[in-house]
Amino acid sequence: MEAYTKKIREAAQRLLAEKKVDGVIGFRQGTIPMMSEPVFIRHVDQVNQLVWNSFCGVNLANYLVKRKDRVAVVAKGCDSRNIVLQIQENQFQRQQIYILGAPCHGMVDRRKVWAFLQGREPVQVTENGSQLQVSGKGFDEVLPRQEFLQENCRICTHRNPVLYDELLGEEVPEQSDVDRYEDVRRVEAMTPEERWRHFEDLLAPCIRCYACRNACPMCYCPTCFVDESRPQWVGKTLDATDTRTFHLLRAFHLAGRCTDCGACERACPMNIPVRQLTKKLEKDVKALYGYEAGLVVEGRPPLDTYRPDDPQDFIK
Ligand code: SF4
Ligand code: SF4
Ligand code: SF4
Repeated sequence: MEAYTKKIREAAQRLLAEKKVDGVIGFRQGTIPMMSEPVFIRHVDQVNQLVWNSFCGVNLANYLVKRKDRVAVVAKGCDSRNIVLQIQENQFQRQQIYILGAPCHGMVDRRKVWAFLQGREPVQVTENGSQLQVSGKGFDEVLPRQEFLQENCRICTHRNPVLYDELLGEEVPEQSDVDRYEDVRRVEAMTPEERWRHFEDLLAPCIRCYACRNACPMCYCPTCFVDESRPQWVGKTLDATDTRTFHLLRAFHLAGRCTDCGACERACPMNIPVRQLTKKLEKDVKALYGYEAGLVVEGRPPLDTYRPDDPQDFIK
């Protein structure tokens, strides 16, 4: 992690000094432990703010949409896939973005650490290889980092950036022995009544804050359907039907576009596992079209194209 920090700072210094970019988007230490926050660096004298650690889970591709300037951005495997999708969707030109690719070891879920601490407040969290050292008033804990990873990182199969201008370190081995869809299959096996109840319970705590939408690099419509008033597609209350409509429509808008980066789930203040919806669509798109979102710039995503010889009549 320290090695990445050094390389990010060196690259930022060089790119800004040579005027190759107008700014660098990376992370700086947050004000509380386990909260690294996005930062936009414009001057060489600011580069020492940049850091890299296991708490850089925010997807920085979220800050690239409709940019007009040239920027460098630090990108994990998932972030780089979102950048590929944004290029496919004409959100900016490839040459505007200098990608500092970060082969990724997975991001730590601060909520899992908080749960382990059972109310004890962490004052300092540092990393030492595969261990997290967590200390606070009257305690000092050493935790195995691997057991505290975000759920999406635990099953991630694309940890290495798929598109980059320079890599910050050696490529990491990809995980091949993970079951990405165990939870989806469990829901698929339910009866319709059980499934209805499952989603009713899943979405009941939602407060419609839209943090999940705002954190998602693929949710960038100028006016989201939930904010439209003429016509008003969906009510703005906490009525259960409105809440479900929001979640189901948002999920369908992500079909063939979601990279399972986990930013939505990470942002949710109510700890709702919203990825359950997008993962079902990811599974179906993979089964129906053999397609995984954001792996290559070339070609078109399956829901963004058609074949004149499509065997079904509706297309003609
Ligand atoms: S989803 Fe993959 S690439 Fe993204 S942070 Fe997790 S392990 Fe890294
Ligand atoms: S829906 Fe969630 S997991 Fe999928 S791309 Fe958006 S933020 Fe990432
Ligand atoms: S972030 Fe959580 S609470 Fe907020 S709208 Fe999304 S699912 Fe609902």
